[in-house]
Amino acid sequence: MRGFRRHAVLLLAGLLMAGPAAADWFEDFKDRATDRQLLKFLTAMPKGGDLHNHITGAVHSEWFWDLALAAEADGYRYYTKTTIDNCRYGTDEYGPDAYLLLFRTIPEHEYRQLEACERGEYQPVASLSGEMRDRWLEALRLDKPHEGRAEFFEALWPRIGGMLTNPHLVADLLVRNMQAFGEEGVLYLEVQIPVHRFAAPDGSPIEPEAVADIYRARLARPDARATGVTVRFQLAVLRFTPGAEQALDTVYRFVARHPEFVGVNLVGREDNDKGYPLRFLDTFRALRREVGDVHLSIHAGEVDEPNAHVRDTLLLGADRIGHGLNLISDPDTLLLMRHGPYLVEINLISNLLLGYVDDYDQHPFPEYLRIGVPVALSTDDRGMWDSTLTDEFFVAVKEFDLTWQEIRTLSRNSLAHAFLPEAERAALLEQLDERLTRFERAFQRRGDALLAGVEPQYRGFLCRRYGVCAPAVAPAVAPAVAPADDA
Ligand SMILES: [Zn+2]
Repeated sequence: MRGFRRHAVLLLAGLLMAGPAAADWFEDFKDRATDRQLLKFLTAMPKGGDLHNHITGAVHSEWFWDLALAAEADGYRYYTKTTIDNCRYGTDEYGPDAYLLLFRTIPEHEYRQLEACERGEYQPVASLSGEMRDRWLEALRLDKPHEGRAEFFEALWPRIGGMLTNPHLVADLLVRNMQAFGEEGVLYLEVQIPVHRFAAPDGSPIEPEAVADIYRARLARPDARATGVTVRFQLAVLRFTPGAEQALDTVYRFVARHPEFVGVNLVGREDNDKGYPLRFLDTFRALRREVGDVHLSIHAGEVDEPNAHVRDTLLLGADRIGHGLNLISDPDTLLLMRHGPYLVEINLISNLLLGYVDDYDQHPFPEYLRIGVPVALSTDDRGMWDSTLTDEFFVAVKEFDLTWQEIRTLSRNSLAHAFLPEAERAALLEQLDERLTRFERAFQRRGDALLAGVEPQYRGFLCRRYGVCAPAVAPAVAPAVAPADDA
């Protein structure tokens, strides 16, 4: 009893001497903020980079709609499957050329090659209206309770694939993303973007070099530059395909030749055993004998079973690990990564919607963060989740009660581990530190008033899970009672 009392007195004295903690203001804010105020705060908060972003999965469905229609100016027209009239049997009903997939959108040259019966199943995207248009939009989002991993990998990607062979459309969706991420205060995007298998409106191939030129020209236009967002590219290889080693060789050499392309990734279902990491060890080693200066960020540990994929992926030479969910069940590798040079790219919303965790109390993110494994928050395929990078921070703060210092660490990590030359990385880090310090001071001075004019990009995920939805459109006549809340 005496010992306990003495301990308590010492503890109290220690607290009094330390004075108020520097970040108490953020704890105070979290205590009193409504969810909407928290979202506004996190929207206005400057952010570092998004290091794990499949740009073709980062497209909100209404952007796809706009882009598909706008592509007519470049000669591309799209058709989408709206009925199934049993035109085909015994072919590839569920495979890459899935016959039984509604709202699969294809370019006109592909449509022209179909038999008359199948052509009758399609309508021009531009002709959809009302409920049909809504269904088309809905079919590109993972927003139903029954939708998960299978819908994502086997339905969503095949539905949009036909639009993603148009390099102008992909360049435009990149800029739409730069604008939206810029509005969230993001400084840097390192996106996985394709350059292979592109085609002109008549179906003739467009070479990867020409695709890169189209991206370069698009990024040089004023609307892209005005975003202030720095962009670099990664090329990805679908890991379980029969020719994946050859594809890896091709993209690795491409990245080495082009300074805007800074890294190589391996993507696709990791629960497909044909894509296991060590399959690629010989290929990487052969490439490293000939080619230098290619960084690797590789998906690993995005599986349900415990295995050594994260360790094996570090052996491949990866500097960053995408997801790293099952690192938690590999203690030797976890110990290796504490306070180490390798970052884990955390995708909280993706992991929940694809069922790699059933709830956030299963997610290893807080354990990694708080034992010193470098981590950063990223968005993965945010268009399909209908979310933003701000929403990832919202989930992290709500579920794991992040401190202000932890938020700063996450944003710093997302730049400190960017695949950029040292000087560029340092400049972005300096910019982030300045912006965060300015934001912090402004908030401490002005408090919630700072949030009054902030307009979050209200998206579906937060609305569905946390009830943080866009305010209803103001009625023409003012309501009798002013709505309660909230800055
Ligand atoms: Zn990913």
